[in-house]
Amino acid sequence: MSQTTRNTPDTELSQFRVKGEIPVPVLINWLTTVAVPLLVFFAWRSGLRNDPVTPPLLIGFAVMLAANSLVYWLSSHKTLQRRGFIALITVLFTYLAIHAVEDGSAILWLFAYPPIIFYISEARVGVAACSGGFAAVILLFSPLGDMLFEPPYSSSFRLTMIFALGFEMVTCYILDQSRRRSKLGLLKLAADFEYAAKHDALTGLANRREALSQLDAEHQRYLRNGRLFSVVLLDIDLFKSVNDNYGHHVGDELITLVAQTLREQCRKVDTLARWGGEEYLILLPETPSEQALQTADRIRQAISEASVNTGQGLIKTTVSAGVATIRRSESIDRLLQRSDEALYQAKSEGRNRVCG
Ligand code: GH3
Ligand code: MG
Ligand code: MG
Repeated sequence: MSQTTRNTPDTELSQFRVKGEIPVPVLINWLTTVAVPLLVFFAWRSGLRNDPVTPPLLIGFAVMLAANSLVYWLSSHKTLQRRGFIALITVLFTYLAIHAVEDGSAILWLFAYPPIIFYISEARVGVAACSGGFAAVILLFSPLGDMLFEPPYSSSFRLTMIFALGFEMVTCYILDQSRRRSKLGLLKLAADFEYAAKHDALTGLANRREALSQLDAEHQRYLRNGRLFSVVLLDIDLFKSVNDNYGHHVGDELITLVAQTLREQCRKVDTLARWGGEEYLILLPETPSEQALQTADRIRQAISEASVNTGQGLIKTTVSAGVATIRRSESIDRLLQRSDEALYQAKSEGRNRVCG
């Protein structure tokens, strides 16, 4: 989730879950479990009042809601489940209001609509559904609604209903926006933490822990498919004297310059890591020994040509590198030890060279 969440638009927020959050499919299944017996109960009550239309309709809604959850259970299709549920409850609530079920009191179920819609869908769908619902209620309570549906609601009930429903919808929208922003903030925080745990703050390269994890993954791939990989251990030559002569900040600039040169010289698939103070590790996947030595030497050459601009003029540096390619049943530790020995050899042979 690290890179993706950095620019997550609101519409895609539901793809990411924060610990403790109720997943939408679970909420819909739970609401369906509660709604089905309620619908059967009210169908039975309507039957007692000799209403011929409502009981079969409410039972029909109960069956369709249950079928919607069953389809999700069989197909795991989240979007289909959500859209089916929204369509069913929209039609159901419209019917309850228009037909004035339970002496007209069933219209109060409309208050359940805004929080559910805002939770299970994107903000813009929630706004559209609530605006549509609100407009429908106004139409129902208007003279035109009286002509079309003959609703039995008193004028004081209509007034209170319109204001209370409008108030609830706006409140739900505000709370939902706040919930979405908090979730986005939490996801960004998690992504930043993940990034910080894997990268070096000065250079932005992978840190030692991340390099070890990549090495382990590459080793597993090698054991499975036998594709050779190599490591290059690279160390800035006589770096201590740079710090001593120009100051720590110039030393830091040099460390960053070398990191930048590594980025320019390596492939996207290579892992570049800051292994220690002025030491770097490069993991070259699917790279045999000869090719790794050539790459290391190209990098060495490029670094020797780069320079840092200081108050006392341009300063240049060189690096020494040790290269090792994985052998048959070798461990990562042994591979790293061999690259370290090769680096030591490069230093003792006079620096600014690659050994393998
Ligand atoms: P060699 O060619 O044998 O590698 O000599 P060297 O001077 O590069 O090696 P040495 O290990 O003696 O010195 C490394 C120095 O790097 C010592 C340490 O103070 C410095 N150093 C380590 N990390 C940092 C850092 O983040 N910034 C700066 N400016 N210096 C660092
Ligand atoms: Mg050094
Ligand atoms: Mg060193």
